[in-house]
Amino acid sequence: MLRNRDGLGRVAIIGGGLVGTCTALELSDRGYKVDIFEAHSELVCKASQHNEGKIYLGFIYALDLSLNTAHTMIEGAIQFVELLSRWIKFDIEDLMSTPFHYCVHKGTLAKADKLAAHYQSCADLFEDVRSQTGLKYLGLIEKIYSRRMNEQDIADIANPEYIDAAFETNEYAIDTYKLASLLRQSVSQTDKITVRANSKVVGLKKSDDNSFRKQYSNLEGAITWSPPYQGNRVWNLVRKGSLLRVMAG
Ligand SMILES: Cc1cc2nc3c(=O)[nH]c(=O)nc-3n(C[C@H](O)[C@H](O)[C@H](O)COP(=O)(O)OP(=O)(O)OC[C@H]3O[C@@H](n4cnc5c(N)ncnc54)[C@H](O)[C@@H]3O)c2cc1C
Repeated sequence: MLRNRDGLGRVAIIGGGLVGTCTALELSDRGYKVDIFEAHSELVCKASQHNEGKIYLGFIYALDLSLNTAHTMIEGAIQFVELLSRWIKFDIEDLMSTPFHYCVHKGTLAKADKLAAHYQSCADLFEDVRSQTGLKYLGLIEKIYSRRMNEQDIADIANPEYIDAAFETNEYAIDTYKLASLLRQSVSQTDKITVRANSKVVGLKKSDDNSFRKQYSNLEGAITWSPPYQGNRVWNLVRKGSLLRVMAG
């Protein structure tokens, strides 16, 4: 981080996926100037765009009997819309999928009754998190549920030869392509964020004055050093190895 004349830092972010881009938008809202170094040609074009987009409620983590995974997922899910609204303008109903159904395969490790009990635990956990935060799932849903489907309804969606049971839920995914596009649009509307696309960070170097520079290559493979960022903390992370995977990139 490099301090500017207002006393606010200039921040370098390596990787412009969902995490890097949202971090940049939040920092720019708080008055920081931000450079995003992205190895590819545009932001939010890798895993954050090409994924299922599910806003998990913990249903699929039935083998974690501690419920820790479900709890973490529910805490994230209930804040998702609230957080995104800080950085982009959207109507969640334009982004939402149809609700998920879960089919229980005959060879599954978790049988239908065990799953039904797990889904109920998720619903109870959701109640707790909802009462602590006052938030709704996707800003709309106050209660989550799972409902066991009858044989006829199952036959309409899956081959009963392979399926023991099925559940309807009110868990949803969002359209990750639309989300990616909205995030890129939001970044393009702030002059506090500079996107250094096609810039793969391949190294970090500490200077004598404790600042550090990023070494990055462009599409033609030319290697460039970034301006210096003040960064004892980052440098310490590098020394401890937390950032070494970036250097190896
Ligand atoms: C198949 C699949 C399905 C998934 N389904 C879901 C789901 O349904 N729900 C869910 O919540 N999560 C899902 N995930 C997980 C989710 O996609 C990731 O948790 C999320 O995208 C991570 O965001 P990120 O910004 O950390 O990573 P990314 O989107 O991968 O962004 C990292 C960025 O850093 C850039 N980069 C990397 N190294 C460098 C470097 N050295 N220099 C410059 N730039 C660099 C990359 O080019 C990339 O753009 C899924 C993931 C996969 C792979």
